[in-house]
Amino acid sequence: MQASCQCGSLTAEIQDGAEPIVVACHCRDCQKRSGSPFGTMAYFPEDYVAVGGKAREFSRPTDSGNTFTTGFCPACGSTLYGKASGFPGIVGVTLGTIGEASLPPPMRSVYEQSRLPWVVMPAETQGFVRGRNGERTR
Ligand SMILES: [Zn+2]
Ligand SMILES: [Zn+2]
Repeated sequence: MQASCQCGSLTAEIQDGAEPIVVACHCRDCQKRSGSPFGTMAYFPEDYVAVGGKAREFSRPTDSGNTFTTGFCPACGSTLYGKASGFPGIVGVTLGTIGEASLPPPMRSVYEQSRLPWVVMPAETQGFVRGRNGERTR
């Protein structure tokens, strides 16, 4: 699978064989980062993901005291990848830059405390008020 930003200068090549874990996040930071109601990334072991081109990175603290770093294209601004310091060795690639319909629906939907009321997640998606270790919404 191939991911690319809007202008095409930042890419990622994702090797076959890894089971992606898709997570939708409705936190205010992901809303602002993506400019959308929620952010969605497919997470892979980092050995499966080769980023090509130049990214700029932005890091922010998370609720759990870790750091979440996103990589975006300095030319067009698309976020292409994300890494959580609490999950070393795992990299998330934004679903929109992959554009692959065969990816599974989100396994988890987190930070539903700020989910817009009209956003409905699939029935099989686990919902959480905040992070994955906390209170469930369903
Ligand atoms: Zn770009
Ligand atoms: Zn988030």
